[in-house]
Parts: sequence; structure tokens; C-alpha cells
Amino acid sequence: MVYKYVYGPVPSRRLGRSLGVSLIPSKTCNYSCVYCQLGRTDHMTNTRQDFFDPKEILSEITNAVKENPDGIDYITFVGEGEPTLCKSMGYLIRETKSRTNLPVAVITNGSLLYESSVRDALVNADIVLPSLDAGDEETFLKINRPHKKLNFWAVVNGLKEFSKMRSGKLWVEVMLVKGLNDSEGELEKIAKILEDVKPDRVYVNVPIRPPAESWVMIPDEDAIVKAHEILHGYIIAEYEEGDFHIENSSQLYDEILKICERHPMREEQIRNLAKKLNVNADEIVVKIKNDSDVKIIQYRGKSFFVVKPKRV
Ligand code: SF4
Repeated sequence: MVYKYVYGPVPSRRLGRSLGVSLIPSKTCNYSCVYCQLGRTDHMTNTRQDFFDPKEILSEITNAVKENPDGIDYITFVGEGEPTLCKSMGYLIRETKSRTNLPVAVITNGSLLYESSVRDALVNADIVLPSLDAGDEETFLKINRPHKKLNFWAVVNGLKEFSKMRSGKLWVEVMLVKGLNDSEGELEKIAKILEDVKPDRVYVNVPIRPPAESWVMIPDEDAIVKAHEILHGYIIAEYEEGDFHIENSSQLYDEILKICERHPMREEQIRNLAKKLNVNADEIVVKIKNDSDVKIIQYRGKSFFVVKPKRV
């Protein structure tokens, strides 16, 4: 079945087989990160609201879980932007946990944790994965290009407050961009903040998928290793391993498009999927290359397929 809000399970470098739930319209965010794999933010907002009917989202989650009884490690609330902008996030986490018994993860930029309602909404998630790419306001403005109402130190304080009250794990991700936040000085500032936040894990990531700005570069290897030392982080600078989960070959093309709306796919991943389902991979690849809704981006020697954003 092709869903509107739910996709996958997709292989995730941190969460295994992750059933993705997208709570907001494409590129709706309060940041416009230079490395964003979804392109520049064209709907910048800092106002929380229900963009879609939460009951419909919940019903898709329960149906998708029934279809994949043993194939999901985490139900992951993400977004084609910032998922905590969804006002019903707390309700959705609570209901998903009680209806499915599966652990829930939230991938967020963490910026709204300065609001107590957002901290309360996320408190029951099994893992919250916020990002922290800067150690001061100046770098924050350069790398995350936030909504004008956001203040870096308020964001940091929100993260610290949430860390104290959380019941699940806190895994902070630091995305490194060459020349912006990969110097020892910048990394030390991030490390200092993390000392107070006290996350359970730190992940050091690099832009492995096509970024919003073409000048964004992956740091040199020695800078990545230095970041690992300074931040005491796990490095996740490789492409994810594992298969995307699609059972029904008759809907393969639509399912691939759904995934590419949220998660750029590499040509080799599409070919592997087609092969697994005994579908002619060349036909699928030719079709997607000629699809006017799809953008092909060459990045680091690989072709990525991205569905152009649609407004709701
Ligand atoms: S990377 Fe995340 S936080 Fe940054 S602009 Fe993209 S969706 Fe928003």
C-alpha cells in the first residue's frame, strides 16, 4: 500500500530498519541548513501547527506496522523539514507507542526544545536525535541559517533542559561542513556545550547526500578524525547499508517516488530493489530519469534521485 505520511522501512545508519513518518509538508522548517539534503527551505516558519490530520497519520502508522510485523526496528518521526513544528507530536508519540509496542525515535534539529510544550511532547520518545552543528551564534547563523526568532543560546538551553527531564536516550548529531565548523576551535566550542548537555551518544556526520548549497564540502579525513576525538563521537560518514523495504512489485515505482520525496536514493539502491522484486531495473531507472517530477543530482560520483518539493 502506498501511504501519504509513512514510508519505508528504510535502512538507517543509526536506527536499523526505520519506518519513517513525515509529519509536515515538504521543506517546512525553521532552519535552512547549508547542507540540507532537501534543498533550501522555502517555507520558513517557527509556528507549531497541525499541517495534517493526526488521526490519519496514526491510522497509517498502525496499518504499516501490521503489514511489517517483524521488519521494523524503530518508528521514526522525521519530516521533510522540522517535525517538532507538528503540534500533535506528543499525542502521536504516545498513541504510537501504546498501539504498536515499537520504540519511537524523533529526528529533530532540536531548536524548539526551548518551548516547554515541545520538551513535554518528546519526553516519552525512546530516542531523540537533535542536531548541534555550532558552538556559537555566528557559526549557527552561517550553517543553520535559522528563523529570525531563534536565538542560539536559547536553543542550547532548551537542549540542556530536555536532557535533564528525558526518559529515553539522547543522541546528538553534529554535521561537519568543511571551513564552517570543522576547525579545532569550533569543535572545542561544541564539545563545551555537549559537556553540559550530557547526551548518551554523539554522532559525527558529514554531508554524504547532495547539499542545498553546491559549495558545501565534506571535511578532510584528519578533521573528521579530530572531531571524533574532541567530541567523543561515533563517525557515521558512510552511506547506509541494507535494503529499503517494498513488498509489492506492482507499486514499486510509486513507492520509490515516496521515498525519494524525503530521502534521496542512489541509483544502485533503486537497482537493488528492482532486482529483489524481479522487476526490470533498467526500465525503472530510465523511467525515473525521464520523470519531470524528479531531479537527478550528481554528488561525489553518484547519481541521487530527489522528488521536487510540492506544496500542500
Ligand atoms: S537539515 Fe533539517 S533542520 Fe536543516 S533545513 Fe533541512 S530539514 Fe531543516
